[in-house]
Amino acid sequence: MSRIAYVNGRYLPLRDATVNIEDRGYQFSDGVYEVCEVRGGQLVDERRHIERLTRSLAELHIAMPLTPLALGVVLRETVRRNRVRWGIVYLQISRGVSRRDHAFPPPGTAPSVVVTARNLDFAKAEQLASEGVAVITVPDNRWERVDIKSVSLLPNVLAKQAAREAGAREAWFVDNQGRVTEGSSSNAWIITRDGKLVTRQADHAILRGITRTVVVDVATAQGLELEERAFTVEEAQGAREAFLTSASQIVIPVVQIDGRPVGNGAPGLVATALRRDFHRYAELT
Ligand code: PMP
Repeated sequence: MSRIAYVNGRYLPLRDATVNIEDRGYQFSDGVYEVCEVRGGQLVDERRHIERLTRSLAELHIAMPLTPLALGVVLRETVRRNRVRWGIVYLQISRGVSRRDHAFPPPGTAPSVVVTARNLDFAKAEQLASEGVAVITVPDNRWERVDIKSVSLLPNVLAKQAAREAGAREAWFVDNQGRVTEGSSSNAWIITRDGKLVTRQADHAILRGITRTVVVDVATAQGLELEERAFTVEEAQGAREAFLTSASQIVIPVVQIDGRPVGNGAPGLVATALRRDFHRYAELT
C-alpha cells in the first residue's frame, strides 16, 4: 500500500506529494510542526497539540490556515488513508511560497500545510521501554525560543546523530551552567533519591511537551511530589531513576547517562508506572 500525504488541500501518493522549491519551509525553515501519537487509529491529545500549534504559529506571525476542527478532520483522514493503527501523524505548516526574501512575503500569501502519517513498530517501542536507553549529553547550542515548535532543528539533528554514533538513543542538551534542558526530541526527567519527580520548568529554554503535561497529571494522581526546576548532569547520574518523554515514545526509562548507570542501571518503578497509566489520562479522539 503506498503512503498518502495531505498537501495543501489534496491527498496524494507520497511520490506525487511535493512542495514548491520557493516554499519558505524549505528555504528558511520558516515553519512549525506537530507530532501526535496515534493509538488504535485514534489521535492522542489532539486538542493540546492543536493548542500548541496555534501558539507556535502566533509567535511566528503565521496565520492559522485551517480551523482546529478542519485540521482535526485532515489529521484523522490522513491517519485513515494510511491505515495507521499505532504510530504517528506529522503536521507541518510553513509561511508559504514566495520569491526568496528574508522578510515576510506579501500579506495574503497562503501558508503551506502538509500532513503525513505512519505506523510505528509497537514491539520495538515496548522493548525499549522494558530495557531502558542510554543518553549522552551535548552543549545546548540552540536559539533562545525553543518553546516554539519550529522546523528549524539543525542542533537537534546533530545532537541525535552524535547520540547514535555513541551508541545511545538520545542526546540531552546541557545549558552553560551544566543543567539539562531537554532531549533532542524529548523532555528529560529524574526521580531524586528521596523520590521526588523533577523536570525543568517550561520556560523559553524547553519545548513544553504534551506528553510532559499529561505525565504531570499522571504523577499527581499517583501521589508523586513534583518539582519543576533545572537539574545538573551530575544530579541525574546520581538519581534513583531518569526517563524521557515524547508523543511518539510516551515514557522511556533512561538507564545510562554519558556511560554512567542511573540508579541500579535498570528501568525504574516510577517511570514504568507512569508509562503504564499514561493513556488513562491522555485524551483519545
Ligand atoms: N522537546 C523537543 C525538542 C521535542 O522535539 C519533543 C518532541 N516533539 C519534545 C520535547 C516532547 O514533546 P511532546 O511530548 O509534545 O512530543
